[in-house]
Amino acid sequence: RKKIAIMTSGGDSPGMNGVVRACVRMAIHMGCDAYCVYEGYEGLVRGGDLIRKMEWYDVRGWLSEGGTLIGTARCMAFYERPGRLTAAKNLILNGIDALIICGGDGSLTGADRFRQEWPSLLDELVATGELQAEQTHAYRHLNIVGLVGSIDNDLSGTDATIGCYSALSRICYAVDLIEATASSHSRAFVVEVMGRHCGWLALMAGVATGADFIFIPEKPSEANWREEMCNIVHQHRALGKRKTIVIIAEGALDRQGSKITPTMVKDLLADKDGLGLDTRITTLGHVQRGGTAVAYDRMLATLQGVEAVKAVLEATPETKTCFIAITENKIIRKPLMEAVIDTKRVSKAIDQQDFDLAMSLRDHEFAE
Ligand code: ATP
Repeated sequence: RKKIAIMTSGGDSPGMNGVVRACVRMAIHMGCDAYCVYEGYEGLVRGGDLIRKMEWYDVRGWLSEGGTLIGTARCMAFYERPGRLTAAKNLILNGIDALIICGGDGSLTGADRFRQEWPSLLDELVATGELQAEQTHAYRHLNIVGLVGSIDNDLSGTDATIGCYSALSRICYAVDLIEATASSHSRAFVVEVMGRHCGWLALMAGVATGADFIFIPEKPSEANWREEMCNIVHQHRALGKRKTIVIIAEGALDRQGSKITPTMVKDLLADKDGLGLDTRITTLGHVQRGGTAVAYDRMLATLQGVEAVKAVLEATPETKTCFIAITENKIIRKPLMEAVIDTKRVSKAIDQQDFDLAMSLRDHEFAE
């Protein structure tokens, strides 16, 4: 029987449990044994009871659980060859040569590297006497498939990563709460959202909440961003708006590549010689990642998990390592490393038109 292992790695995202449930059940449905590797690559390196066989009912109810129940971790040892050697040995000892990994671009890059090195890792394990040659004969190729689990929606080549719509919903909900109190006291709030180098969450939260101003890394602010922001906020206030919401991505930059921080924005809004607004900063932080997945992420996790099992079973030594994407509402396989390289080259495209459209429905655009 073919043995397929599933793991989650890197930062957790809502929907990862749905992925594990779908992969475990699809693997069993396809007549395979399903395993979970607990604690990401740490579990591969440490082995033992961190690699566990799973049954159909072990994942019952997981669709509606937040986080990842099989744990995730950053694993320094896996960056180094000795760590990957131990990982390979643990997989062989468990009879596993098919791996599905749900994580961000780092985790998936590590996976591709592991797959490339696999035959040489086996040779070294045999040469050093860690394994007998006959133990490795049936496992000469490692099949790996990636699933993109991240709240940032930062990988090129897929419209949505598993978890990004859950985080976005959480942000919108939080901004709605903040707006009520902001309006009561006529205050301004600078809301910092996650996303690392990607502004998707901030931009879409700006669209979805009708924020007064947003800062994202993909559209570095002009040198006059201070005047521009104050001018717009001033116009909104002059039109009778009692609340001001500025959304700032954690990776926000200006044209010189300098970071724009929530404190810089707050000081500006509060400046007694300018707007003089009573201004607070709210850093949403890990609230954005926690909790259960929204329906879209559960659906994506399930459909992509099913496809990942099919892909890992159909992979051959010749096929490139693939990941499962959603493009134009279709679940499809794509070469992994092209997407990773594209992501490093250009941050996920957010074009000027999207940005302008998002901002054009604000009050001042229609003021007489
Ligand atoms: P997130 O986007 O949430 O940060 P990620 O998967 O990009 O997720 P990383 O911390 O970059 O998160 O990677 C997770 C783990 O993957 C690392 O701790 C390491 O074990 C492994 N990994 C990442 N990059 C590589 C690499 N180039 N070679 C080997 N292993 C890697």
